Amino acid sequence: MIKKNFLTGEYVIYSLDRAKRPQNIKKDILTTPIKLCPFCIENNHMTSEPIYKSFNDEIRLIYNKYPITQYDTENYGIHYVLIDTKDHEKNIINYTDEHMFYLMKCIKDILNILYEDKKLKYVQVFKNQGINAGASQSHSHWQILGLSILPNKQKYMINALKSYEKQYGKCYFCIMDYSQNLVYENNDFIAFCPNDSLYCYEINIIPKHHITNIRYLNDEMLASLGAILKKCIIKLNLIHNNLDYNICLYNGFRKEDEYHFFLQIIPRVGSLAGFEFSTGMFVNSILPVDAAKSLRLV
Ligand SMILES: [Zn+2]
Ligand SMILES: [Zn+2]
Repeated sequence: MIKKNFLTGEYVIYSLDRAKRPQNIKKDILTTPIKLCPFCIENNHMTSEPIYKSFNDEIRLIYNKYPITQYDTENYGIHYVLIDTKDHEKNIINYTDEHMFYLMKCIKDILNILYEDKKLKYVQVFKNQGINAGASQSHSHWQILGLSILPNKQKYMINALKSYEKQYGKCYFCIMDYSQNLVYENNDFIAFCPNDSLYCYEINIIPKHHITNIRYLNDEMLASLGAILKKCIIKLNLIHNNLDYNICLYNGFRKEDEYHFFLQIIPRVGSLAGFEFSTGMFVNSILPVDAAKSLRLV
């Protein structure tokens, strides 16, 4: 079965036999020794002074030492690292609900600050957890990257959602039936496996009401978002032990680009290879309804 992803226009082939392939089970695990870790608080001389701190210094925002974007050049932008724990070994799975709240609040606060920078057209917030997800440090962290252009993928998504709303008079996410694909829900958010998932066990977390930016969440909703994100990561780890993953925030940055925002969790099960790079198509070896069912049950 082949499907076109509504939000990105990318094609995905559901090839369930792929899951039966013999797998090389040896997995690369990234471990930076503590004494060489720039994100451990005792090594803070290795990094810039924090621009933002909260939750007893558990959460610190610093400039990325190797930024993708630069100040005062044609490639204008910002590139921050958000260190989300003091503990070298901990990650989201181990955080308290209070810790998750302050993490979500930090993302909101930084987006509010960056919003004032009129040269920025787009800000991407993401997390690479583990070497298979592109992380270069094992100490848990996120990245916040501000760009002076709106990426094509985001343009496509904004257009797709706006055209849908124009045609049907309702938001694509607000009228979606989540029942078959539900992973978990709390008062404010739904976690589900999208019907046109590009990735195995992909989970999207979406506000139950039409909220167009993480900047508009109140404290209660930030806590809810943190709690459901942690729950989903725990569930994924119950299925795939010590899973590497990416978390991406899809959140229109400028008012005119806003849409029903969501978080995407991409488990790094299997890898992208020649076929994906050459065609821009994806292969998914589990149907989203089946992935959702197994995630619901753990
Ligand atoms: Zn560390
Ligand atoms: Zn909506």
